[in-house]
Amino acid sequence: MAQAQKKEAAGSDTMEKLVSLCKRRGYVFQSSEIYGGLNSCWDYGPLGVELKRNLADMWWKAMTLKRDDVDGIDASILMHPRVWEASGHVQNFTDPLVDCKKCKSRFREDQVQGACPKCGGELTGARMFNLMFKTFMGPVEDEAAIVYMRPETAQGIYVNFLNVQAASRRKIPFGIAQIGKAFRNEITPGNFIFRTREFEQMEMQFFVKPGTDQEWFDKWRETRLAWYSDIGINPAKLRLHQHIKTELAHYAKDAYDIQYEFPFGWQELEGIHNRTDFDLKRHTEFSGKNMSYFEEETKERFVPYIIETSAGLNRTLLTCLIDAYREEPERAVLGLSPRIAPIKAAILPLVNRDGMDKIAYELYDEARTQFKVFYDDGGSIGRRYRRQDEAGTPFCITVDSDTLKDSTVTLRERDSMKQERVKITEVVSRIKETIVY
Ligand code: ATP
Repeated sequence: MAQAQKKEAAGSDTMEKLVSLCKRRGYVFQSSEIYGGLNSCWDYGPLGVELKRNLADMWWKAMTLKRDDVDGIDASILMHPRVWEASGHVQNFTDPLVDCKKCKSRFREDQVQGACPKCGGELTGARMFNLMFKTFMGPVEDEAAIVYMRPETAQGIYVNFLNVQAASRRKIPFGIAQIGKAFRNEITPGNFIFRTREFEQMEMQFFVKPGTDQEWFDKWRETRLAWYSDIGINPAKLRLHQHIKTELAHYAKDAYDIQYEFPFGWQELEGIHNRTDFDLKRHTEFSGKNMSYFEEETKERFVPYIIETSAGLNRTLLTCLIDAYREEPERAVLGLSPRIAPIKAAILPLVNRDGMDKIAYELYDEARTQFKVFYDDGGSIGRRYRRQDEAGTPFCITVDSDTLKDSTVTLRERDSMKQERVKITEVVSRIKETIVY
């Protein structure tokens, strides 16, 4: 087998294992599964939703709370249709689509070479396909009632630039951050939750004075790259890819992708773009509202440049899972950083008698006011540890017969499997130290 094919086969094996682990442990389920599923739509289970929230919280904290130059907003998904004319989406947000004349499968033209990858059939010529989902507002389904499901969260930020600036009394440079759903009618979704038609973005738009844009662009690129190591991703699997001229979007002066080495190759995790004054100028033109900024100190009026950092929440979650997954002879482990792990600790009475269960339950009651914990008293202790290893739980606390004598518990760490005795009164704060961010 050629080297590339070998890599691909190994990659799909890892992906299959991960998809099945996600279902078994409650990370991700197929949407509408009992009806046969809906292509490329996924539901987040009890562990998946915690992981997603933890990642969103870490992003929010890093981008807004820990800084003094970024505010947040939460704009609506449906926006005035003119927004998407101004942004260029009505005209440009298209992919070239080709059909197989034989099996009728559809592909993005840039993802096939010559013949149909499924059956080898002849392909039609390419035609442009707009990726925006359309729906109708109100009871009449005609052209005038068309609205779009936003294909990116960015535009909700641009149209609110003046509102936020005035309400927060901000001076340039400052940024606006937002986490929210976006929709794209992708021609070829796939690789589990990597590319879906409904997904969540974590975007920040930073408004700067023209001339200072390069400096801010460089700063944000490094800040964002560092964030991925901060959430526990192996830095050796991260890299920056600068867009060459032909890759640059129509609005961009310069752009980098932060990429991760997935089992299916190096792929984009986040885009960092220097969007120039394109967006605010276009909204000025299309809305008739002047979106420029007046700088008191210099008495200058200018249209700010925008540096954008645009990340995918679901894609980040997938990256964390892939990066954390490993197999050892005796167990499968999700080595998630304690900061993002859905369950921080499992509390396990060794046996359900002699008061061990009562002490364990009391500890559970105390710990769950501080962070997410799981109580498990079913099966052998070894099996319970294995279950938690696979779920990504960094710590297990076992209440055993020694606890009855000296009020200590066993604290087991997932990765090293090291066990130590810790005072029951100290175990909650010990774990808490590992999850601050
Ligand atoms: P591509 O060229 O791969 O379609 P893009 O360059 O258009 O993607 P952006 O518009 O820059 O992507 O979106 C920013 C981020 O949003 C991406 O880096 C990715 O993390 C996430 N994202 C974009 N499209 C999808 C999708 N269909 N499913 C999941 N996440 C997505």
